[in-house]
Amino acid sequence: MRPLRLALCASEVTPFAKTGGLADVTSGLARFLGQAGHDTRVFVPLYKKIVDSGLVTTPLPGAQAIDVRFPSRTMRFSIRTARLPQSEAQKSDAQKSEVPVYFVDCPELYHRPGLYTEDGDEVVRFAFLCRAVLETCQRLQWSPDVIHCNDWHTGLLPLYLRTVYAWDRLFAQTKTLLAIHNIGYQGVFPESQLDAIGLGDQRAHLHHGDLREGRFSCLKTGILHATRLSTVSITYAKEIQTAEYGMGVEELLQTRSKDLVGIVNGVDYGDWDPATDPLLPHHFSADDLTGKQQMKAALLQRMQLPYDPRAPVFGVVSRLTSQKGFELFSDSIPVFLQREDMRLCVLGSGEDKHEKYFQWLRDTWPNKVGIYRGFHDELAHWIEAGSDVFLMPSRFEPCGLNQMYSLRYGTPPVVRSTGGLADTVAPWDPATGAGTGFPFLEFSSHALSGTLDWVFRNWRNQKGWKQLVKNGMQQDFSWQKQGPLYVELYRRMLGAGAN
Ligand code: ADP
Repeated sequence: MRPLRLALCASEVTPFAKTGGLADVTSGLARFLGQAGHDTRVFVPLYKKIVDSGLVTTPLPGAQAIDVRFPSRTMRFSIRTARLPQSEAQKSDAQKSEVPVYFVDCPELYHRPGLYTEDGDEVVRFAFLCRAVLETCQRLQWSPDVIHCNDWHTGLLPLYLRTVYAWDRLFAQTKTLLAIHNIGYQGVFPESQLDAIGLGDQRAHLHHGDLREGRFSCLKTGILHATRLSTVSITYAKEIQTAEYGMGVEELLQTRSKDLVGIVNGVDYGDWDPATDPLLPHHFSADDLTGKQQMKAALLQRMQLPYDPRAPVFGVVSRLTSQKGFELFSDSIPVFLQREDMRLCVLGSGEDKHEKYFQWLRDTWPNKVGIYRGFHDELAHWIEAGSDVFLMPSRFEPCGLNQMYSLRYGTPPVVRSTGGLADTVAPWDPATGAGTGFPFLEFSSHALSGTLDWVFRNWRNQKGWKQLVKNGMQQDFSWQKQGPLYVELYRRMLGAGAN
């Protein structure tokens, strides 16, 4: 079968621009596809942060000074390019993959303090990204088989393709996939902004119920017009079609149910393997866990907490948002901090109330709780490696990467059984020696407390615990396993055109 031409469009890609799992998935999948021989090109905005990082990019011949015309304004971009590193930690030239990243350079839109903004033209920033992808393909006369869009930021692309670019034979066979990484972010804007993005006369193609209420949604537009839909775990694909998890999109998704597939995210073990992780001072594997003990001591020292091998360390690495379920902590964690000899190491940033809560825990139990507020990649790796238990009590979790990292790092996760957490963590059963972690179903402090009791009971049996750790470390969620599922999906979308 012939190699495919694949355009991956996203608002984030590791290591250049990342706020969450989407960035890791974009690069991990792109690397897999490139290694598998597909002509894969990644499109992302050239954010100010990337320019400031000193990354060397070069102008892409044939894709310079391209005008994108919106009714009220014409904006210009150029493509600058760099190759995707083989893994986050490997940045030397010899270790670059063959996959090019096409950075959409438009300073007036992307030279802002963060990746995302609350500015009045946020929708223009990402509508522009969609248009820039299609304009670039035209300039290069490169005809993608599949344009793989991700989340609301690239949700308008399928509609642009069907309308503004419908005349171009270059795209006659091109299919679009919209991957939903988190239904909580929908890109909803006032209808009055449709003109600014050149969709003012495409109202017939937008979600009518939204228009009646004076708004439009980039995510829903993508769901309406993409050839196929995917999401990042099998359970989440089912959940988002229900009122409990669908966040108002469930009915629309039900109408496209047969086009929606769940594929659990892969993990890039090039970045996340305790045997080789360059961000760790001590390494370990399932056969020799000495380095894990050393990482535990190093982590506690870094967090200024006393080391005691018998006291389990609980780790948290997370965006601190209501999605992540930390409100369950308030009626459970203090009881355990009071009663048990344990440590809690938290890395996160986000909503003020959560940051304050963790600070309060730290102030109340200064010898048991350490926190770092902010984004810190190296510390994330240290916490995965140096903790004994990982905490992820999410209210909802499309896939979740951290629990998969923690499994590989010998840190059994406590997870609420939802979305990808349900698909990737199996309950530990000391009787059979099977299972990898501690899932619980009910979203309540009571259920979390019961689960923590379950953890402490098992922690006291270190022989069983070693088996649990080993089971987790042997799980394989690599892109080598998950990537081919995307290739199959692309080929199904293309039908006979894939041969
Ligand atoms: P989400 O995409 O919802 O944030 P995931 O578990 O899928 O959650 O992915 C989160 C990714 O972001 C992981 O790679 C995790 O290590 C990283 N991450 C989250 N918060 C931080 C932080 N404060 N510092 C460093 N890395 C973080």
